[in-house]
Amino acid sequence: MRVLVLSDIHSNLEALEACLAAAPACDLVANLGDLVGYGACPNEVIERVRALGGVFVRGNHDRAATGQIDISDFNPMARFAALWTRQQLTPENLEWLKTLPQGPVRRPEVPAAQFVHGSPIDEDDYIVNWSDAMPPLITAAASLTFFGHTHHQGGFFDRTQTAETFQPTYKTTEWTDRCEWRLRKNQHYLINPGSVGQPRDGDWRAGFAVFDDEPYAVTFYRVPYNLQRAQERILAAQLPERLSARLALGR
Ligand code: ZN
Repeated sequence: MRVLVLSDIHSNLEALEACLAAAPACDLVANLGDLVGYGACPNEVIERVRALGGVFVRGNHDRAATGQIDISDFNPMARFAALWTRQQLTPENLEWLKTLPQGPVRRPEVPAAQFVHGSPIDEDDYIVNWSDAMPPLITAAASLTFFGHTHHQGGFFDRTQTAETFQPTYKTTEWTDRCEWRLRKNQHYLINPGSVGQPRDGDWRAGFAVFDDEPYAVTFYRVPYNLQRAQERILAAQLPERLSARLALGR
């Protein structure tokens, strides 16, 4: 059983296509939320992932675009992008986005896993460091929790009284690269596949992960994509210029 785990695509069609092209054949696709917001291709991204099917969890930017949450506490750039996205979405895509479930979501094909946007405790929580990771690790209802929201690729696992972190390391900064993390069956893990469409860990390449139950491991990927095209689309849509510039920095 192999699961392709995608998160935080953020309307970046070029990054999504590059990830799908680089990914091995998988039995299931899991999307951890924030399909839209920031990027210029919300409809195209929704139509692509709907066609792939699989698991979906709603993200805060998905709820912002559909008007399901108050966006007055979003920063001005995120608020502008949410309102722009709402205007762009076709009525059908807007309705579909509203139906995305709140995590945790479970699937019988992968009994060891649960899928969330921010945290299994609260969908809007950010798990950035080990102290954030401790409460969800201790209370996790599944061995493997796949989460997104921070746009930081990597993971956490429980150790007596503490949580350890795992950070993928790569040989290059420009080409397709992967890093395998062998997991132990008697341990709890929080695993973030990274962001497809707006990485914030200093690596501009699109991030995703593949979980395999035999061998029991997660493989993190970073793949280059047509950055210039994604940036041109953002500028042509008259979205904030910073949303284009940050893609090149991975911030
Ligand atoms: Zn996000």
